[in-house]
Amino acid sequence: MAHPVDLARVPSRGRWARRLARGLHRALDLLFPPSCVACGRLGYSLCPACAQAVEPVPSPFCPRCGHPGRETPRPCPRCGDGQGFPLVWVRAAALHTDPLREAIHRLKYGGQRELAAPLARYLVAVYRQPPWTSMTSTLDAVVPVPLHPSRQAERGYNQAALLAHAFGESVGLPVVEPWLERIQATRSQVGLSARERHRNVARAFRAASAACGHTVLLVDDVFTTGATLMASARALLAVGARAVYGLALATPTLAPVDGLAVHR
Ligand SMILES: [Zn+2]
Ligand SMILES: [Zn+2]
Repeated sequence: MAHPVDLARVPSRGRWARRLARGLHRALDLLFPPSCVACGRLGYSLCPACAQAVEPVPSPFCPRCGHPGRETPRPCPRCGDGQGFPLVWVRAAALHTDPLREAIHRLKYGGQRELAAPLARYLVAVYRQPPWTSMTSTLDAVVPVPLHPSRQAERGYNQAALLAHAFGESVGLPVVEPWLERIQATRSQVGLSARERHRNVARAFRAASAACGHTVLLVDDVFTTGATLMASARALLAVGARAVYGLALATPTLAPVDGLAVHR
């Protein structure tokens, strides 16, 4: 039996705090105009021309994990034959190529939080297309893939949470960060093979029992081998979540070659 999402317990910065922050941002923009992360054009954090240059995931792609490929082989190089893939489906908004790659890098490592709102628009765009349009009413909450508290303290924020909040606000879904926590400070996934990535994060996450009975949409910035999203989904399913879907901003054009079936 699902408990309704208790919005009173969902941490929120509140409408006034958000308005104040927006006003402050506008004032700062006048004093220090932002420049486009990709081409340097003043007045935008991502200018209209560079925003247009973001490459959508081309068809065909794997119906389960969204892995792009001219002719997606069977089994899929990322999710295998689907056995043991814990998410109902995952979609990425675009390919992990420039200018999006540079924008994500600045959001993650360059302290440019203001990129979350323009980048979340790509998540919204994909979410307003099939197959999502057939099932959006069944989703209970958006949960960002969490960082370990030590990494979050270092960075000052979680880029997936910034994306999830901007996305949730646009589509009218609550964002419930406390449903998932990262309990292991794993090493960075960058430079690891698919097999190493899966091993690295296998027991990194713990879900809250409050997620029991709910249908959850996990949000992350980049979906590479799927190791992080899959470990997150398994933690949520272990506490009784009804189903888990995934939405990522970017996916590489090809999964690492040893990605096949490594998640079993
Ligand atoms: Zn630009
Ligand atoms: Zn797949």
